[in-house]
Amino acid sequence: MPTVVVTYSALESVVAGIVGDSARVVVLIPNGADPHDFEPSAKDLETMSSAAVVVANGLDLEAGLVDALDQTEASGIPVFHIADHVTLRKGTGDADDPHVWLDPLTLAEAAPALAQEIGGRIGSDLTSAGTEVAKSLGDLSADIDARIKTLESCVIVTGHDSLGYFGARYGCEVVGSIIPGFSTAAEATAKDLTELKTLARAEGVKAIFTELGTPTDVADQLAREVGVDVIELATHVVPAGGGYDEMMIALTDSIVAGLS
Ligand SMILES: [Zn+2]
Repeated sequence: MPTVVVTYSALESVVAGIVGDSARVVVLIPNGADPHDFEPSAKDLETMSSAAVVVANGLDLEAGLVDALDQTEASGIPVFHIADHVTLRKGTGDADDPHVWLDPLTLAEAAPALAQEIGGRIGSDLTSAGTEVAKSLGDLSADIDARIKTLESCVIVTGHDSLGYFGARYGCEVVGSIIPGFSTAAEATAKDLTELKTLARAEGVKAIFTELGTPTDVADQLAREVGVDVIELATHVVPAGGGYDEMMIALTDSIVAGLS
C-alpha cells in the first residue's frame, strides 16, 4: 500500500479522510513536538524518501524540515504544500502567516487540489473524497462559529502569533502575543512585554492563552500583572485519541471557557 507522509499531526485525520483505504498516512513530526523547531532524524529522511506524496504545511512552519523537503522534491517525490493552495493572511510585517490549519475553511480550500495530487500519484480517483472532506470542514467551521458566537466579545492574547486565521474567520481580535512572531523561535523583548501588558489591560482581556513553545514564566508573570488566568490552548497538538476536528473543537471550547 502506498504511503502518504504528512509533516504534522493536525493534518493526519484530514489527509486520512481523503485517502480512505487507498493509502497509509504517516505523521513525521510526533504529535506534541513543536513543528516550528523540529529537526528530522535519518529515519525521518528515509520515511520521506519512501512516500508516494509528502504533504507539508509550507511557509516555513516546518523550519527544520525545509532542506529535507527540498531534497525529497529534488529526488522526484512530490511535496504538496498546503499553503500554496489557500488564501493567505499577512502579519504585521510582510511575511505570510503559516497557521492555515487553524481555520477549517482556509484548510478546506486546499482539499480538492490535495485529493487530485494524491489521487494522481497513487492511481485512485479521490475527487469525491476531496469534496466530502471540504464539506465536512465547512460543517466544523459552522460548529466553531456557533460556539464563539455565545461570547459577548472575543479578544485574545496568544502564546505566539498563531490565531490570525481563526480570529479573522470567527470575529476574534488578537491583540497581541507573548512571542511576537509566527514562530515559537522568536523572542519577546522587555519592551514588547510591557506594551503587551498595557494593551491587554486596556482591551480588558480575560485570560492569557499559551501554547506549545510559550515560555511559562513569562506568561505567568504577564497574567499576574494583568490580573487574569493562564489557559493553555492546543493549537499545534491533536488530543489523545482525536484528530483535527476534535482539536479544533477543544481549542474553541478552551477559548470560550477562558473568555466567559
Ligand atoms: Zn505556530
